[in-house]
Amino acid sequence: MPVPLSQMWTVATYVLKQKWKGRRQYPLVLMLEPLYRCNLACAGCGKIQYPGHILKRELSPEECFRAVEECGAPVVAIPGGEPLLHSRIEEIVAGLVARRKYVYLCTNALLLKQKLHLFKPSKYLSFSVHMDGPKEQHDFSVCKEGGYELAVEGIRAAVAKGFRVTTNTTLFEGADARSVRAFFDEMMELGVEGMMLSPGYSYEKAPDQQHFLAKDRIRQLFRLILSNRKPHWRFNMSPLYLEFLMGLRQTHCTPWGMPTYTIFGWQKPCYLMQDGYADTFEELLASTRWEKYGTNSGNPKCANCMVHSGYEASTVDYAFGSWRGFWDMVKATLFHRYPDAAAQKALETEKPAPKLVQIDLSKTTRESLEGIRFAGATVAEGIEKAFDYRGDLTLRLKNGQQLEGYVFDRDGDGSSSQGRLRMILKTTGERVSVPYADLEELCFTGRDMAAGKSWEAWVAKYLAKKAAGEPSAELVAETLDS
Ligand code: SF4
Repeated sequence: MPVPLSQMWTVATYVLKQKWKGRRQYPLVLMLEPLYRCNLACAGCGKIQYPGHILKRELSPEECFRAVEECGAPVVAIPGGEPLLHSRIEEIVAGLVARRKYVYLCTNALLLKQKLHLFKPSKYLSFSVHMDGPKEQHDFSVCKEGGYELAVEGIRAAVAKGFRVTTNTTLFEGADARSVRAFFDEMMELGVEGMMLSPGYSYEKAPDQQHFLAKDRIRQLFRLILSNRKPHWRFNMSPLYLEFLMGLRQTHCTPWGMPTYTIFGWQKPCYLMQDGYADTFEELLASTRWEKYGTNSGNPKCANCMVHSGYEASTVDYAFGSWRGFWDMVKATLFHRYPDAAAQKALETEKPAPKLVQIDLSKTTRESLEGIRFAGATVAEGIEKAFDYRGDLTLRLKNGQQLEGYVFDRDGDGSSSQGRLRMILKTTGERVSVPYADLEELCFTGRDMAAGKSWEAWVAKYLAKKAAGEPSAELVAETLDS
C-alpha cells in the first residue's frame, strides 16, 4: 500500500467535509518553507537566489504552527531550502506530529544520516527524499558529483530505523524513459514506501533555463515512463494526477490546493510563482486575483506548467466531487498497469539521452541593475524591477531617511500613489512598509543573486569552502557573509 490507510482516510474525510460545507477553494497540502537556505545549489531551482541576510532567516516553530492552524490542511510538506539546515527543525516536526498532521519532510538527504537521531518514527512523518532520477541525471540536476550516493545512504539509514521514506523526483529535459524506469526499480529495492513525480517548473530565476520540459514533451515522456508499469512500483500520489501527466486526462490548476507559507508570508498565487505575499491565509484567498493564473489564464508563466503543486489537488478534488470521479480513481488504483503496445515499442527504440553537458551559468542573460538608480519620474519603473531583483536595495525617502534591505513585496505596478513597498531591513531584520508617495530614489546596491555571474561566483566560493568537510549551516552562513 503506497499510502497508509489512516492517511487515505484522513484525506478522504477532510475533502468530503469541504465538499459538504460547499467550500470551492480549500487547501489540501500546506507547503511550509521555513527557510530558503540550502546546502546544494541546483541549476533548475529558483528558490534560493537571495542575499545572505534573507538566506539566514528562519520561521520559528510558533510561526509554523500558526500557519498550519490558520490553513487547516491535513498534510504538511516541508520543502525549502533544505529543512535539515533549520536550527529547530525537530521542534517543528514534533509539533506537527502532535497536531496529527501528515508531514513530508522534503530533503536532499545529504545530512539525513547524521540528523536522524533528532526524529522519532511515526505514521505521521515521512522523509521525502529528493532524487532526480538515475545517478548521472541526479548529480547533474543537483550540480553535485556523489549527491546520488549520499542520498541513497540517507535513505538506507532512515529505512533501517523504521522511518517512512518516499522519494520525490523532478524530471527535466534530457531524462530518458528507460533509465527513469530502471531508477524506479532501484528505489523500490531500497525499500521506499512510494515515489512522487513531477515535471520541473520553468522558474524564471533558475540559473539553467535550457532544460525545462514543454507540455507535449512532458506527456510524451511520462507516457513512456508510466505505461506498462511494473507491478512492484508504488507511487505516493494521486493516480489521476499520473494519468494527467501521461496525457490521459485533462484538469485545471487549483493553486490554492497546495498553498505556500514562507519567511515572507503566504505566497501568491502558488508554490512556483512569487507574485506578492499576504499576511494571513484568509487574505491570500480573498486578495489573490486567481483568474490571472492557471491553465486557461493565458499567463505565459503558466503555459508549460503541469507541476504537482498546481494539479494534484485538482485531481483529488475531482475524485471526491462526483461518483464518476470516484469511479475513475478506483479504476486507476486497481488497474494501474496501463498496457500500451505503442509506448512499449517507442520505449524499445528510444535513443539514449544525450550526454549531459555542464551548464555555463555565466552565459545566462539577466539584466544587471547593480548600481542603477531610479529617481523622480522613473521611480514607478524602478518599483517593479525592485520586486524582481534578488539583491538588496537602498531606498532614499523624501524626508531624507535611508533604508537598506530586500524588497519582498509591492502593490500593483508602482503607478498608484496609494501603494507601498514591503522590505526586510538588512541590519535589523525588521519588516517595513514604505508608501510609494514617500519614495525619492531607489538604488540597486546589492548583487542580484539570480544573475548567472553572481550565482556562479557564490557557488564557486561555497564549494571551495566545503571541499574539506561536510556541508553545515555554519558553513552556509559563513559563505553568505563573505
Ligand atoms: S499553472 Fe498553476 S501551479 Fe502552475 S505556475 Fe500557474 S498558477 Fe502556479
